[in-house]
Amino acid sequence: MPDTVIDPPRVPYLPVVGTGALFPVRRVYCIGRNYAAHAVEMGHDPDREDPFFFQKNPDNLDPSGVFPYPSRSQDVHHEAEMMVALKSGGRDIPVGHALDHVFGYGLSLDMTRRDLQGIQKKMGRPWEIGKAFERSAPCGPLHPVSQVGHPDKGRLELTVNGETRQEADLDQMIWKVPEMIAYLSEYFELAAGDVILSGTPAGVAAVQRGDKMALRIEGLGTLEVTVT
Ligand code: MN
Repeated sequence: MPDTVIDPPRVPYLPVVGTGALFPVRRVYCIGRNYAAHAVEMGHDPDREDPFFFQKNPDNLDPSGVFPYPSRSQDVHHEAEMMVALKSGGRDIPVGHALDHVFGYGLSLDMTRRDLQGIQKKMGRPWEIGKAFERSAPCGPLHPVSQVGHPDKGRLELTVNGETRQEADLDQMIWKVPEMIAYLSEYFELAAGDVILSGTPAGVAAVQRGDKMALRIEGLGTLEVTVT
């Protein structure tokens, strides 16, 4: 350990199914508008345009199962997403080799202060205050590729208090996981520990304190999160 002038900040870790070992997180990339029906509900063209990305902070990932309602917002939305975790990276990764870099997959929620995001969008400003706030990415443990393969189809469903809010199939993603990795690697140097939230289908909506969210993706189990 180097001699540091303050205590080193905590490295965020994700649990891994089937082992006591943890996955340390380096960066979190999130893709926008990756399901056509969600692009339409947000007022955009569903055609396949170049993907776009924003980032959350690594320590926004939160496997605790609790989502504290954040400050300064009256309109906090759930976005149910599959999470992809990388064991290696690089630049200009070809689509055909992209999956070689994946360690595993999990469930995640890209929680969004939609009112604040809307104001930022309108003003042409960055999205961080809408997206990258404390505990804004509740998530489950990672399932290693050795156990679940590379899920490219399968049902995704988010319920709130037992009522279905978001429902889709992974095969409806506009940009598939290998394409996302390849595209990101043209702009950033990807590395072990990077996590990608792969976008949300239609049906995003507000949550209230006390709500119980449950996200299921075929083959990846269930993530239960309570809004407090
Ligand atoms: Mn999202």
